[in-house]
This record gives sequence, structure tokens and C-alpha cells, in this order.
Amino acid sequence: MSALPAYGSDPYLRRLDAEILSTGEDQGRPFAVLSDTVFYPEGGGQPADRGTLNGLAVLDVQKAKGEVRHFLASPLAVGKARLELDWARRFDHMQQHTGQHLLTALAQDRFGWATTAFHLGEDVCDIELAVPGLSPRQMAELEETVIDEIRAARPVSARSVSAEEYGTLKVRSRGLPEGHRGEIRLVQIEGLDLNTCGGTHLRSTAELETMKLLGTESLRGGTRLFFIAGGRVRKRLAAHETRNGKLRTLLGAPDTDLPSVLETKLEQLKTAERRLRLAEDELAGLLVEALAARPGVLAEHHFEGKDAGFIQKAARSLVAAAPGKVAFFTAESAGVAFFVLAAGESLTLDVAALGRSIATLLDAKGGGSGKFFQGKAPGLGGRPQALICLEDALGD
Ligand SMILES: [Zn+2]
Repeated sequence: MSALPAYGSDPYLRRLDAEILSTGEDQGRPFAVLSDTVFYPEGGGQPADRGTLNGLAVLDVQKAKGEVRHFLASPLAVGKARLELDWARRFDHMQQHTGQHLLTALAQDRFGWATTAFHLGEDVCDIELAVPGLSPRQMAELEETVIDEIRAARPVSARSVSAEEYGTLKVRSRGLPEGHRGEIRLVQIEGLDLNTCGGTHLRSTAELETMKLLGTESLRGGTRLFFIAGGRVRKRLAAHETRNGKLRTLLGAPDTDLPSVLETKLEQLKTAERRLRLAEDELAGLLVEALAARPGVLAEHHFEGKDAGFIQKAARSLVAAAPGKVAFFTAESAGVAFFVLAAGESLTLDVAALGRSIATLLDAKGGGSGKFFQGKAPGLGGRPQALICLEDALGD
């Protein structure tokens, strides 16, 4: 490979004919090493490129043992190589990466906030700034400064210099890798920034289109600042518009009123739920009273949508009101069934034995003490059999 791969000398090159020089396998993943490449290998915070090599998907590109490895879906033989870059993905990376150069330079020079790290994420990017926090006003000022320099359409260029020349230049360096030899690659934003970088960059700050600072997060005494540049801003705005459109239809309100309308609706829902609970409790109380007044020993009922706690309370209040009765209540909510069996004080009945029989019929797990038995079942398919079993036992 020449000193500078094709992605370094021309980051706008999307296709290339080259040679597969060697092939190999790393942890079961086949890879190819080429005479030259348009695929940027992961590094400096910028993810690896994607695309195809002789029509096969390039899944990852990594630097290892002094070579650039193109990891493939299946092995290829040594020979001719036709490379096709996933350009949309690469251009997005160039926008985010060049955006980071600009943001870092301006945060440092205009505000005195040094960048300590950069992450280019799937959806959003961030830089870590050595500053305890940013106010909304500081964020707005930084964003305005960035937008001014995008509008200024400053040329961005890359060049390689010797170690001697590097020593004479005023470079905002992230530091060279340990044991670095030979030429050093510099990236310049005219009039703003000179930095060492091996990544792929836009030709001009104008190609950034725009940048939006999204928010901050505290981080070990520093601040993580989230941002997006270029096409990501339009993509995110489009997603916001689609979501807002759905919310406008659902809530019948314009954008500006959505939060307050939703707040009111949630408050109304809370009130309605509270009233429903009260009404259901009242209804259950009346039902228990009616069951207590009926002839016969067994009082049974199914409470749809209620839980174990509810039927336990109902069973206790029934046998308290009618000590000569046995309560058998079931409930089902969120796909889980419950049952409770309770006998009044004046009855001599082996509730535990009867409870176990019912648990078996309902395929349930259960237990209890004294005159109380409760259980949890996958369903209530065995309820009619359980009732027959109870009627037999009680002689009802
Ligand atoms: Zn760079």
C-alpha cells in the first residue's frame, strides 16, 4: 500500500479497482488485505466504513499488525478487487467528524473549553469538555459561533509534513501515537484550526450544512456535550415532525399546546382511575353483603381484572359478616389467575385439605393457615370442577 491510502488522499472517492494481496482469518472472520482502499478503518473516534468488495459485503475494517483488514461475509481469493463504498454512511461520518473539529476548535479558542474525548454514535455524537457545566446561554453562544463559521465556508484540507516541519508548526495536537515515525498528517480548517488527524474530512465547512447542540450531561467533573451535524439535523427534524403530527392528531391540539393538553389528560386519567377504584370497592362491598345474605354454605364469585389482594380482602369480610359460610373467590388479571378459600368461625372444616384439592384441580400453587387458603394458577379452566368438589365437601 502506498504511504497514503486512497481514502486519505481523496476522501470523496467512492469506487476503486485494486488488488487483493493476501487473505486471512481472525477469530473465524475472513478478511482481505488490499493494494489500496477507499474503506476507512475504525480510528480516531470515527467508525469503520461499509460497502462491498467484489459484490461481497464489507462488514468491518480494522487496522491490525500494520495492515488494513477488510472483514467479509465469506472468504475471497487473491486477485482483482472492485471496491464500492457505502457513500451515504461515509459522508455522514465526514459531516460529524469535521463538525467535531470545528466545534472543538471554537470551544477551545473562543470559550477556553478543552475537548478531552469524542464519540461518533449511531444517532448522536458527543465531545467531552473540561468544564464543570454549560448554561443554556453558553450553549446557544457556542452554537451561534459554529454556525457563523459554517456560513463562512472555510476550506478544509489535509497534508502530510515531515517531523522537522511538524516541530515548527503551531498544531492543536491530540498527540502522536507511541513510536510514530515518518510523515505526520495534518488537517487544517483555514484560519481556525491545524490538527493532527488521519480521518476523512469535508472540503469546506459549508458542507456541514448546519449543526445543532442537543444537550449536556455531567461527567467526572467535566461535561459531555451532545451534537449532530449535516444530514442528521434534517433526519432528526423529520422524525420530530412525524411524531408531532401523530401527537397533534391524537390530542387534537397544535404543537405549542401538546405538553399542557397531555398534562391535563394525564391528570384527568388519574382522577378517573381513583374514582373507578372507589366505585369498584363499593360494588365489591355490596356484592359481598348480597353473597353473605344468600342461603347455603358456599358463597362463590369471580372478580375479573382483580388481583390476589382484592379477593383475600373480600373473602375475609364475607366470613366476618357470615361466620357460617365458606367463601370461594377467583380473580384474573394480566393473564394470571388467583383463588382464595376461607371458612367462617362457626364451621369445622379442614380448609387446608380442601384448598389443596382445589389447587390440584386448578393446576395451581397455593398454601394457607387456619381457615384461609390461597393460590395462584395459570388459568381457571378447572373452576367448574373446583365448584363441584366444594359442593360435595360442604353438602350444599
Ligand atoms: Zn479529523
